[in-house]
Formats: sequence, structure tokens, C-alpha cells
Amino acid sequence: MTQNEQLHMFVDGQHRRAAESREVRDPATGEVIGLAPVGTRSDLDAAVAAARRAQPGWAQQSDEARAQACRQLADIIGVHSGELARLLTREQGKPLKGIGSEFELGGCAAWLNATADLSLPVEVIQDDDTARVEKHHVPLGVIGSITPWNWPLLIAIWHIAPSIRAGNTVVIKPSPYTTLSTLRMVELLAAALPEGVLNVVADGEGVAEGLTTHKDVDKIIFTGSTETGKKIMAAAAPTLKKLTLEMGGNDAGIVLPDVDPKAVAEGIFWGAFINNGQTCAALKRLYVHDDVYDEICAELSHLAQTMPMGPGLDESNVLGPVQNEMQFQKVTRLASSSPTEGGRVITGGAPREGEGFFFPITLIADAREGMACVDEEQFGPLLPIIRFTEVDDAIRQANSLDVDLAASVWSKDIDAARAIAERLVAGTVYINKHGEVAPHIPFGGARYSSMGVEFGIEGLKSCTNIKVYNIAK
Ligand code: NAD
Repeated sequence: MTQNEQLHMFVDGQHRRAAESREVRDPATGEVIGLAPVGTRSDLDAAVAAARRAQPGWAQQSDEARAQACRQLADIIGVHSGELARLLTREQGKPLKGIGSEFELGGCAAWLNATADLSLPVEVIQDDDTARVEKHHVPLGVIGSITPWNWPLLIAIWHIAPSIRAGNTVVIKPSPYTTLSTLRMVELLAAALPEGVLNVVADGEGVAEGLTTHKDVDKIIFTGSTETGKKIMAAAAPTLKKLTLEMGGNDAGIVLPDVDPKAVAEGIFWGAFINNGQTCAALKRLYVHDDVYDEICAELSHLAQTMPMGPGLDESNVLGPVQNEMQFQKVTRLASSSPTEGGRVITGGAPREGEGFFFPITLIADAREGMACVDEEQFGPLLPIIRFTEVDDAIRQANSLDVDLAASVWSKDIDAARAIAERLVAGTVYINKHGEVAPHIPFGGARYSSMGVEFGIEGLKSCTNIKVYNIAK
């Protein structure tokens, strides 16, 4: 797209133009890359009304027709993945190659196809002389989707795919930081579906709050911070909406003394720095046994200095800028406060000079609980490394916060790692890896990280109500 090109919202099978628009800038260069519409409450109301009108017809389509529609959407993503990936890189900042935009688009198609292959058959609970009792999964109605800026297209698909597969219709509101890429992807997908099945409204005053309080919205699927998740839960209470809330994480990794530091370093590095650390289930606190502490620090530091960071369209780069100024300021604050709190910066530590929100990979050794960079979710290219001698103490510290999306244990001894995994509070505990997600594996967190799970059959069920037919004989 060019500087003056404007993308539009898509409501009821057609483009919907906004009265106002705003400039969108490339986080790597500061250049204006396009104009994003500013949504309003009336845009939202039109989208919800369209979704409501379309829902009964969509629910009446056969299960196979909806499965086929998901496969068709996967094909559309495949055809347009080059264009979408470039736009995503320019707007979000992530590299085109590696675990970047092309990877994200590949994930979108994979999740759509995997969701197509799921099914929720009718279950006969009782069938005897007295009664036949059947359990059906029926759609909820209209689902509102609210997405973050870190993996904006993949997360949009995580919301859209199970919703429409189960017979619901959708109104999606993207993050204001990643409006353009979401609008472009959703208009391509929505145009292939019956009018009103999929609608997208850009952020603007009253739009997010309107979606979470709307009487005609039956469920909200939200991915974002824990603070916003709490607000959504409160806002949704008067209309008793169903909720799936996927929120913040401050994932701990525990490295046992028997590891080969060279062998595990790369897995730990990418576990922490996938998408520049801007990943909910990235490693955000690393607890390393004293016996291997210095070697692990040295290996990670070496990797940090050899990974090319720069504008994502340059295919040699594997790390891009921080996505937005707010996040950039947060990482800057956490890095600069670390030395005064007793931390030792072993690489990085300050913003890179020049254009763009570039912040080098930053490793803070001698980190301890109570330091801001340990206790707060950094959500950026900064990792505190905490030394331990007693594994019980490492487990206690790992479990000491209230956000527990995932955790990991690193050891040659799988039984020992598993025993520790059983004591960690988390939605997923990885052993000798961190952060992998897949469409067939349920994903959610413990405590303040999540409400409900996504993916697989559990994720699909969460987009339905159970309806029982109880027939006397
Ligand atoms: P955020 O909470 O600031 O925003 C997320 C979305 O919520 C945006 O679309 C935003 O416009 C919207 N929003 C803001 N206020 C709202 C309100 N009052 N009502 C309704 N919607 C509102 O989060 P972010 O900065 O975009 O994303 C980063 C956070 O997301 C991190 O904490 C990260 O861990 C989390 N995250 C979690 C997962 C997961 O699956 N658990 C995945 C990705 C990101």
C-alpha cells in the first residue's frame, strides 16, 4: 500500500467508510505507511446488527459447509500471504522471514484448516425404554473479538476460526496499533462469506466499550493484557456475556545444573525473544542453577550479539523494532532501573540510536525477585536471569506471581524435569523447549493469565452452548 492509501472497515458484506482517519507509521522507520479509519459507535452498531441478521442463516448451513468455508479462507490467506506479510511487517515491525510475518500467515492458514477438521457430533446420553436424551452443541450467536498488536493476524484467526466454524457470526475490533493488516486480511476473508458473517470495525471512541456492553453480543473473545481483561469482565457483567480471556504472562524457565549450556542456549534464546519478546507465552524470567549460571549467561549473550536486528523488510534481519512507543518506553524504563536495583546488564541495556523503536536484546544478570524487570511482564527484548542453588526456592519464586501462562524446565533428566513441572502453576509446562503452540493442543493459563482455553476441541466448544433434547418414550 502507498502512503495515502486508506483501507476501510468491512460491515455487512461491504466496505464502510469512516469520516475520520489517522496516519499509521512504520515502527522501524517512522515513515507513514497508510491511513487507518477511526471507528465510531454507529459503525459498531451497524456491524453488530449485520452479524445478528446473518447469524441464523449461517447456523443453518450444514456443518460440512462451514468446514469447507474455513478451508476456503485458508486458501485465500495462502493466495494473499505475500501482500499480507509485507503489510504486517511494515505495520507491526516483525521480520518478513524467520519467525516473522510469513510464519504468522502460515499459522493463520494452518489454524483455519485444523479448525475445519474438528467436529462436535451429537452425543446420545441415554436411549432406553423411558427416554432418548441427546446433547447438541449449538452456536452462541454473535461473538465480539478484541485483539492485541503482537501477533495480530494469527490471534484474529484464533478468534474467528472456531467462532464461524461453530455457526456464530463475528465482529472483530483490532488493536489500534495493527489496524491496517487486520482490515486487509478480514476484508479478504469476509468477502468470501455470506454478508454479515464476518465484520471488522476499527478502534475509535466508544468502540471497544460498545462491543463489551452491547446487548446483542453474546460472547467476547479477548486477547490482551490482564488489566484490560478485568475491565472487559466488569463491562460484560450486566449483559452476562460468555467470555474467553487470554491475558498476560510472566513465564518462568528453570534451568537445572545437568544441562549442556551450548545445547540449550538457542532454545532458551528463542523461547524468550520470539517476536522480540512481544509474545504472551515467551520466557520472561530465567532461573538458572549456580553451577551453569555463568556459562548460560555467556551463551545467551553471544547469541544476542550475533542476531541481526533491523527493519523487517530487509530479509537478513531476524529481529525487528519494538512495535510501539508505549512498549519501547516500558522496556527502556525496566532496563534503566535494573542496575540501580542490583542487576548487571551483560548485553544491551539502552535504546539504539537512530530512527525506529530499536532496542537491543538486553540480558540482566544477578536479577532478583522484587526488581521491576522480574516482577513486571516486560513484553519486549529484555530477559532477567536469576541465580538459584536450591530447586525448591526456584519453584517458589517461579510460582510467586499471579500470571501463569506457561513455564519451562530445562534438564537432561526428563523425570526430574517432570517432577518440577508438576509443582509449577501454569497452563502449559514445557520441558526443554518454551512457547510452542499448535492448533490441536489446548492453550490457556492459570490464575490471572486466562479464563477459558483456546484451540482444539475445547476451543471449539467454548464457542457453543450445550442444548439437550430429552424425549419421552
Ligand atoms: P491491551 O490489553 O492493551 O489491548 C488489547 C486489546 O484490548 C486492544 O484491541 C485494545 O484496543 C483493547 N482494549 C483496550 N481497552 C479496552 C477496554 N476497556 N475494553 C475493551 N477492549 C479494550 O493489550 P496489548 O498491549 O495489545 O497486548 C499485550 C498484552 O497482551 C500482554 O499482556 C500480553 O501478554 C497479552 N497477550 C496475551 C495472549 C494470550 O494468549 N494469553 C496473547 C497475546 C498477547
